[in-house]
Amino acid sequence: MTRYLVLLGPPGVGKGTQAKIISERTGLAHISSGDLFRENLKNQTELGKLAQTYMSRGELVPDDVTIGMIRERLSRPDCKAGAILDGFPRTPTQADALEAMLDEFNGHVDAAPFITGDEDVLVERLGDRWTCRANGHIYNQKSNPPREPGICDFDGSELYQREDDKPETVKRRIHVYLEQTSPLIDYYRRRGKLIEIDGMQTIEQVTQALVSALDIQSSL
Ligand code: ADP
Ligand code: ADP
Repeated sequence: MTRYLVLLGPPGVGKGTQAKIISERTGLAHISSGDLFRENLKNQTELGKLAQTYMSRGELVPDDVTIGMIRERLSRPDCKAGAILDGFPRTPTQADALEAMLDEFNGHVDAAPFITGDEDVLVERLGDRWTCRANGHIYNQKSNPPREPGICDFDGSELYQREDDKPETVKRRIHVYLEQTSPLIDYYRRRGKLIEIDGMQTIEQVTQALVSALDIQSSL
């Protein structure tokens, strides 16, 4: 069965962390728009250079380039069974474009889990976030430290702190989220897709809440 999930929630609430866990359990592809932009930046593509000017300020990359990048990603074979979208859509225009794209792929958004969290906790979590250079694995020096400081448990690559995780940029990103992305909460609620999940619990508790809300048959 094809299944598309849209993870909603403010920066730092745990979307990437949960998307990776749910992707492993279900076999659904994990599509992170932020990771795709960072990969383009690492490879110094035109898209990456363009995205960087927005990302470093904590602003959204324009809809047309973002939509084009996601369309290409969703058309790859590993998305045949569906995908978990993390960080996309972030505007109503992107959400409309997603509906149209999934129509073409004979699919639709099955559910939009909305992970909630308090602003002060988000700023703190992002200040303590360490990210793996090779594959974007996510750590936290307090709540989810790697076995060896500075090194990814999964692929041994270097961990770094994202430039846009410094408090001023995080505050800007939260503001942008409230202005441009939060209308999606009503967008999916009106369509009967929204599932609210309390993101202030431990990582394991949030996973458990997602697994039961989404009726995921865990093989682990
Ligand atoms: P997002 O993708 O929504 O920006 P992340 O998944 O990258 O969020 O998580 C942000 C930071 O918070 C990371 O350092 C991550 O390890 C940590 N984190 C994620 N979920 C939790 C949680 N439930 N409790 C404590 N820390 C968490
Ligand atoms: P977070 O970990 O806070 O969820 P992301 O890694 O998803 O952050 O996004 C980092 C940056 O990439 C955003 O601040 C924005 O500049 C850009 N970006 C990611 N996804 C989108 C999107 N769907 N639309 C526009 N810009 C995006």
